[in-house]
Amino acid sequence: MIHAWHQKSWDQLVIARNTKHLPHAILISGEKGTGRQVFAEALVNSLLCESPLENYHACGKCKGCCVRNADVHPDYFQIGIEANKTQILIDQIRELNDFLHMSQSYLASRVAFINPAEALNINAANSLLKSLEEPANNSVIVLLTAQLSTLLPTIKSRCQILHLATPSKVMALQWLSQQSIQHPPEELLEMSSGKPLYALALDNAEHFQRRNEFANDLLAVIKQQQSLTEASKKWQKESKDELLSWQIHWVQQLIKYPFNTGEPESILQIPNLVDSAKLWQLYDQLIKLRRLAHTSLNAQLFIESMLLLWIKLEE
Ligand SMILES: [Zn+2]
Repeated sequence: MIHAWHQKSWDQLVIARNTKHLPHAILISGEKGTGRQVFAEALVNSLLCESPLENYHACGKCKGCCVRNADVHPDYFQIGIEANKTQILIDQIRELNDFLHMSQSYLASRVAFINPAEALNINAANSLLKSLEEPANNSVIVLLTAQLSTLLPTIKSRCQILHLATPSKVMALQWLSQQSIQHPPEELLEMSSGKPLYALALDNAEHFQRRNEFANDLLAVIKQQQSLTEASKKWQKESKDELLSWQIHWVQQLIKYPFNTGEPESILQIPNLVDSAKLWQLYDQLIKLRRLAHTSLNAQLFIESMLLLWIKLEE
């Protein structure tokens, strides 16, 4: 089931389907950790269902739902980043184009899901344009992105964009309190910058520990107790997106509470980092770096340039 804070967006799709105006390409945009994936999957499932419920959720019982649940639906094509790659490549989109234009079909319609859409490289994106411009009969392409602004304007203009809401603090806390968590929900939500599903993931002890360890290493690099190369090597296997989300959150906290030294995470206790102009600059630079997280840049160099931003802050 989708989350309560996404109901309005679902209703929009219900109206479109009731009036037979469902677009052939739907670009879902939402922040990571807010349940956007659950929404996208609910949409895909409902499109593959042969007898959806009144609210267009998948029935879970029909033939379409059964083959979908077994992950063998012949009219469904999913595209993501393949192992050891950082981008979605043109060959994957060529396969998708072939799939969409096949003459035989199991159901009346075909569904494709591209996630994360921001990982489409330029050639893949251009190849996808063909299918977006001349949609195959009865096909729907669902795209999911956390970085709408980095997508090609030509892709965006050929899709209907659906902006998913981030929940209010009250809604997020209510949902989080219903999960079985070990840390106080307020603390988790604060650490996740208000993203409830991310907050739930943070409750996991291992994640908590890795985040703390990175905070300690970052602090050691800033204080020149650990070398840049050493730290970059250590963290090169970690998701770049994850590392950047942690840092962006810390900078936000430092901007919001410059004199708060009671924070549990060591990085937030740096007394020197209180120049807000510099912090805003760092924030902008981290956001820019996040846009490059899906490029094929060398991981260690990427992390080095990320850590270097913090060192420069001290100069
Ligand atoms: Zn069904």
